[in-house]
Amino acid sequence: MQVLKLGGSVITIKEEPMTADDGNIGRLCEEIRAAWPTPLIIIHGGGSFGHPVASRYGIAEGFTSERQVQGFAKTHQAMVRLNCIVVDRLMEMGLPAVSVAPSSFVVTRDGRIDSPDFGILGRMVVRGILPVLYGDAVLDKEKGFSILSGDQLAVRISTEMGASSLVFGVDVDGVYTSNPKLTPGARLIERLSLEKLEGYVRIGEALTTDVTGGMLGKVSEAREAVRAGVEVLIVNATKPDVILKALKGEPVEGTILTR
Ligand code: ADP
Repeated sequence: MQVLKLGGSVITIKEEPMTADDGNIGRLCEEIRAAWPTPLIIIHGGGSFGHPVASRYGIAEGFTSERQVQGFAKTHQAMVRLNCIVVDRLMEMGLPAVSVAPSSFVVTRDGRIDSPDFGILGRMVVRGILPVLYGDAVLDKEKGFSILSGDQLAVRISTEMGASSLVFGVDVDGVYTSNPKLTPGARLIERLSLEKLEGYVRIGEALTTDVTGGMLGKVSEAREAVRAGVEVLIVNATKPDVILKALKGEPVEGTILTR
């Protein structure tokens, strides 16, 4: 089984609130169809849908005031909207995509997924269904509520379900020596070992508002999957056929995380 995480930076226009990148979404859905049938779970990020509203209400910081409860609902609903666009597109292409809301079955403890049960996802995959999840506002056992990033969810699903590979589709070619959008001389790191990764604190922040932390957040989440033996790839999902090749196990430009 493979897990595909599609970044909010790929499927939305990050600078424009609540705006989907229909071009990228359509092309990616076609690539997924071209790789189909294959045991697969998709998780997508929030981009300009979830992040602005979540940060306006301070959802990631947990419950501190009653006014945030409305923000919790609004954050979830923004994600439902984006998810609907992705799932509709997959279904138009004849894929059996089914939306699965993380907030309805995942809780966190201090921001980390607590005692997950992904059994239902396994049953769906065995039945030939394509589950599509997303980063979401979830209930938290310590903080009241929290933001569960699509990255954390994708990693946890991969490790708990014993996925063979986890592919992160982002808007850059992989992990660079420093943020390629800020540093013209940044070099792409093709293989990144756990050891090197631990020491890599120079991996900067994403450029736009992202309550869940850019490339640094992604690779530190991904360490868990690497340790569990999942093959982790970070590739550019804005370039045609990269995701298709990654799903087919063909060589592709990007960063592979290794033990
Ligand atoms: P997504 O929303 O697609 O999951 P993020 O926006 O959270 O992804 O993270 C990807 C972004 O991280 C890139 O667009 C880039 O601007 C930023 N970034 C920061 N440091 C690095 C780095 N060392 N290598 C690659 N990208 C980096």
